[in-house]
Amino acid sequence: MTEKYYKHIYGPIRSRRLGNSLGVDMMPLKTCSLDCVYCECGATTELTAQRREYVSADSIIEEIDAYLANNPPPDYVTFGGSGEPTLNSGLGRIINHIKQRFPKQKLALLTNSTLLNNRQLRDDILPCDLILPSLDAVSADVFRKINKPAASITCADIIDGLKALSSEYKGMLWLEVFIAPGINDTDGEIAQFKEVISQINPTRVQLNSLDRPGTCGTLTAAPPASLTKIANQLKPLPVEIVASL
Ligand code: SF4
Repeated sequence: MTEKYYKHIYGPIRSRRLGNSLGVDMMPLKTCSLDCVYCECGATTELTAQRREYVSADSIIEEIDAYLANNPPPDYVTFGGSGEPTLNSGLGRIINHIKQRFPKQKLALLTNSTLLNNRQLRDDILPCDLILPSLDAVSADVFRKINKPAASITCADIIDGLKALSSEYKGMLWLEVFIAPGINDTDGEIAQFKEVISQINPTRVQLNSLDRPGTCGTLTAAPPASLTKIANQLKPLPVEIVASL
């Protein structure tokens, strides 16, 4: 089996947060429910909140089976890729299949949180060992500026979905907040973040910032001193800086 065989999985890559991580690309480039200014995959070409099987779950399962049956287990099989993975309606079937066939294999999900107010989706992802949802804004105008969402998506729904997931989920929940200087780093927004994140009650809060160029050419990385200040403002929440300083 050569690497060329794989179309939907990549790596394993060494990830700072996940160790040895086998990536699963659940979506065609670049189909997403958001069009974030910091996206490293380029501008969203299909902006949608509609769940469907954009990439065949059977073909993803076939590749994961082939990899896991013939290679040392990675620390995590991680659902992510070049769009929002929860838009793929086959996600639950893939998760269940891996947990049945390879019960010791840990699963991680990267998500932009936009569909978490969907009950079916939350049920689909409960077997994951680690969920890393994003929350980049708590007020509607900041949300529109940084995440440029599909029409039906609101910041309030995202926050409700995160609270619902947190109350139902037994695994680790690491909430990522991407800091975009001049957009979501005002003292007022950070104070609101603190209140909302306290209600969500994640296992960890991870502050990130620009590493590679995003879709907005003028966006810069948050300076280390600014990230440290924000981390201190958010304490006693379990906050850490994961941006490369
Ligand atoms: S949610 Fe992720 S994939 Fe979608 S635009 Fe934002 S950063 Fe890119």
